[in-house]
Amino acid sequence: MPDHVTCITACPIVNAHNPSGQGFRQRIVSAHNATGPVRPWSVTHDPRRTSWSGTVPYHFAREHRPHDLDALRALVAGSSHLRPVGTAHTFNDLPDAAAGAEVAAVSVAALDELQVGDDRTWVRVGAGLTHAQLAVALEPHGLALENLASLPHLNVAGAVATATHGSGVRTGNLATQVRAVELVLASGDVVTVRRGEPDFDGTVVGLGALGVVTALELDVVPAADHRQVVLLDGDPETLPDRLASILALGRSVSVFTLWDGSPDRVWVKSRDGDPELDLTATGLAPMTGEQHPIPGLDPVHCTAQQGVPGPWVERLPHFRPGFLPSVGDEVQSEFHVPFEHAADAARAVRAVGEHLAVALQVAEIRAVAADTLWLSPQFGQTTCSFHFTWVGDTVLADAAARVVEEALAPFAPRPHWGKHFTLDVRRAYPRLDDFRALRDRLDPDRTFVNPWLERVLLDG
Ligand SMILES: Cc1cc2nc3c(=O)[nH]c(=O)nc-3n(C[C@H](O)[C@H](O)[C@H](O)COP(=O)(O)OP(=O)(O)OC[C@H]3O[C@@H](n4cnc5c(N)ncnc54)[C@H](O)[C@@H]3O)c2cc1C
Repeated sequence: MPDHVTCITACPIVNAHNPSGQGFRQRIVSAHNATGPVRPWSVTHDPRRTSWSGTVPYHFAREHRPHDLDALRALVAGSSHLRPVGTAHTFNDLPDAAAGAEVAAVSVAALDELQVGDDRTWVRVGAGLTHAQLAVALEPHGLALENLASLPHLNVAGAVATATHGSGVRTGNLATQVRAVELVLASGDVVTVRRGEPDFDGTVVGLGALGVVTALELDVVPAADHRQVVLLDGDPETLPDRLASILALGRSVSVFTLWDGSPDRVWVKSRDGDPELDLTATGLAPMTGEQHPIPGLDPVHCTAQQGVPGPWVERLPHFRPGFLPSVGDEVQSEFHVPFEHAADAARAVRAVGEHLAVALQVAEIRAVAADTLWLSPQFGQTTCSFHFTWVGDTVLADAAARVVEEALAPFAPRPHWGKHFTLDVRRAYPRLDDFRALRDRLDPDRTFVNPWLERVLLDG
């Protein structure tokens, strides 16, 4: 390691409530000035030009991939503006920099450690891992996460930062698996915020606004075989009446629909030891043959169905870890409404279904349990979550998303942070002012702010 970074390791790791950031930042800036812009402990890449889907242009001047925590601290302390980026699977400019602003992206992909807690109820995970990589690392330890999103290729930190979720009336979003967050503040100092501490509920769903997350401690459970079955709904017009009970049928339930009156498909995922699936009076019947969530597409990339047992990471997501889904040219939107409004909200979306058809590839309805994280869409409410995979035409997708937003307006929808929406969310989050105050304290010089954060959350 070059001489000019020696000071980094000598700097103390500080507590969130007593950051000594200024001193560290000044030392590291002096070190940079003395040695010029070359940072051999960090790799600088051409930046990503778009989101994963290709539908959102990015405006980064460059992208840094520090090799380790010390290099990251030096980079952050020496930067006036920076944006953390995970796997870029968001469908808006949340990770992006302002056009022409010479702002760099930083990826922590090199931080890929795994440590298993003594009592095997938690693990410490480097923030650079994807869920698929984490599953591989957990496998020899016989441990698993309680739930996953539909795709295992998402970066763990990026998923947590946006309250990404799977499904389950009794299962929280993936941010609720977090028991501690380690992050590098703009000062270059490292803080760890633990569940139960005053800042914890505001820090976990941080949207990249507070610092660069370097490690997470996550709750884990013993690994067990999982199964999934896909059921055909023979009476889609009465789906709203049955929706709440269908979503409670199993550990994780997704209803795939086109909102056009054609038969819906219900994916039910269970873990060894869960109660037997009881389809009596549900109107649902098992489908034969493997299915893709989008009707008519080849299910080759989908996780195995028809009740075949398999590892959690090959059943909880809809798509297999070893393959990328066949559709990438798409836009996604999702709106979470209080679970008690599931039926009325479903009727409202069904009523505008014909206006969605031109843009809709498939829609998915899930449930997510309530939590206490300030910027979680599930803050204080279990939700029924209405997801839409639109075509990649952003004009069509935007128009359709606005139709849904209007239809769901009576139910106070909270949008998924990482998907396309136009709603003003400021009044939807009772702890938003507390989040702003936390941001002001942890990032007083606005190192991590970007146009999305200013427009959607921080201004006004
Ligand atoms: C095919 C597909 C399927 C999906 N399925 C689901 C699903 O089932 N459920 C669901 O809820 N969502 C789903 N999503 C949405 C996705 O989970 C979110 O958009 C998530 O944020 C993606 O993580 P990422 O790392 O790719 O995000 P990015 O776009 O890279 O980043 C998202 C946010 O996280 C911040 N961030 C990233 N890394 C760090 C870090 N180290 N420190 C601090 N902040 C950081 C960024 O600054 C940004 O604000 C899906 C998306 C796609 C493309």
